[in-house]
Amino acid sequence: MPVKNKILVTGGAGFIGSHLVDCLMQKGNRVTIFDNMSSGKIEFIKHHLENPDFTLIKGDLLDQDAIDRACEDIDLIFHVAANPDVRLGTSDTRVHFDQNILATYNLLEAMRKNNVIKIVFTSTSTIYGEASVIPTPENYGPLMPISLYGASKLACEALITSYSHTFDIQAWIFRFANIVGPRSTHGITVDFINKLRKNSTQLEILGDGMQEKSYLHVLECIDAILFVMAKSKENVSIFNIGAEDTISATDIGITIAEEMELSDVRFIYTGGSRGWKGDVPKMRLDIEKLNAIGWKPEYTSERSVRETARALLGRD
Ligand code: NAD
Repeated sequence: MPVKNKILVTGGAGFIGSHLVDCLMQKGNRVTIFDNMSSGKIEFIKHHLENPDFTLIKGDLLDQDAIDRACEDIDLIFHVAANPDVRLGTSDTRVHFDQNILATYNLLEAMRKNNVIKIVFTSTSTIYGEASVIPTPENYGPLMPISLYGASKLACEALITSYSHTFDIQAWIFRFANIVGPRSTHGITVDFINKLRKNSTQLEILGDGMQEKSYLHVLECIDAILFVMAKSKENVSIFNIGAEDTISATDIGITIAEEMELSDVRFIYTGGSRGWKGDVPKMRLDIEKLNAIGWKPEYTSERSVRETARALLGRD
């Protein structure tokens, strides 16, 4: 019988993490989730609770002892836990420093002490800031994030690459576009559905609605991660993961109104070219590097958003 990998997934009860856990369990691994359940939900993982190959640790990455213990006898870590709310940085300047930078440092220390030598990190397009090259390739620079969230994730990347070099840790860093799909708990699709549920006659859209971003379905995202890990064996592998096109905020509004079967929705714009300070209005990642090793997304951004709306509305 093949040896089962012992995998730790931080943030495994969250939106992306729980889909990743489904996939890792399905492939016959032994999976432990480490999650403080701040935005993670038991309903996303409850189907694994009775499985002897599955363990849930309710723990916080800011608790060094807890993460040290969780890293004992682990082969590979997917570090998915974070505070992913980009907008929060405009009102709380501490949260991304703690939940992203400090949390990642604590995890890397736990890895070092326990001799865990493989990490996967879920990074983001926001590390590029307001890029002058679109689609934006992995080697774009200088990297000047415009949100505290983007800054924190870039700091995490830097910590990971430096730990990789200093302590012989192999790392895969994935810079995601917007990821959507069933179990989404935040982001524009969720916001628009919630707003239209409250008032089906009008939809407030932050900015001028012309923000253009790339959206990828979560199952495609996980497929891409595992594809790259099987192919790329460098000490540090950095890959963008996104769709090949974009969709505007207004078109997301139209798509969601269609899926909710609302024909008379008035769109009200708050104005300005971006949703809030720190919002990058135009984002598309260059995925040539991913294409070159043989992976391509199937869905357009519009299809991913539509499928997400259907799933969240219970119509899939
Ligand atoms: P999410 O909020 O659903 O998942 C984060 C998980 O981490 C939750 O289960 C939460 O309870 C857990 N968590 C948070 N702080 C913790 C802590 N201190 N200790 C232990 N657990 C903690 O978010 P998501 O959308 O699934 O995002 C997952 C990852 O992907 C994040 O690292 C995020 O930055 C990254 N990312 C997401 C997107 C996206 O569009 N969703 C885009 C780019 C990058």
